[in-house]
Amino acid sequence: MKRAPIDIVVASGNPHKVQEISAIFAQEGLGGWVRFLSLSDVGGPFAEPAETARTFQENARMKAVAYAALTHHMVLADDSGLQVDALDGAPGVDSAIWAGEQGTREQRDARNNDKLMAAMCNVKRGDRAARFVCFMCLADADGTVIAQTRGACEGAIADAPMGGGGFGYDAYFLVGDKNVTSAQLSADEKNKVSHRGHATRLLARELRALVGAPTQ
Ligand code: IMP
Repeated sequence: MKRAPIDIVVASGNPHKVQEISAIFAQEGLGGWVRFLSLSDVGGPFAEPAETARTFQENARMKAVAYAALTHHMVLADDSGLQVDALDGAPGVDSAIWAGEQGTREQRDARNNDKLMAAMCNVKRGDRAARFVCFMCLADADGTVIAQTRGACEGAIADAPMGGGGFGYDAYFLVGDKNVTSAQLSADEKNKVSHRGHATRLLARELRALVGAPTQ
């Protein structure tokens, strides 16, 4: 007999991320098996746990465990960012606040992108390799880590912004070896190739095993 769906809180204050993650889980056939909740569904918003670690993996784990303690639910958290080879991997774990913590998310994104363009202005085309990286962590309500996954998307930094979709550094990130930024892709196209898409599909595989859902 099929059991009632389990509740999982997608613990992110970034609505773009929640939208991308939820769309992928819906495609992965977990509907009916898992009910995804937002932080506001379980009494949020909460004060965001500090991201003090120097790796995406550890930050994702810290967020998942902290939100499990706050919400008393199973929690899915992610940590992600951009690594630029010519900048020795910066902005990396500092991607969200690279040019400062003040202002709205949109203002921070705009300043981060200005800083990126300034830092890359003398870097020639063949040396502009970069990647988006995403680590996900699923923690049980008691804080036990159940699963961790990683996804990456290789590409390069554009000379100038292109496209109006996505968020963050999307308009400046050329996907793979194409002359198209992730801000020029539809939501569906981005999810197929993105770091978050890869990490979410790997996590969906772990979740299917956990809840006994059939493999797709
Ligand atoms: P986090 O909330 O600490 O994981 O912050 C991740 C930051 O990395 C975001 O604020 C963006 O600046 C950047 N980032 C992560 N994923 C993406 C993406 O899919 N597109 C564009 N920027 C991203």
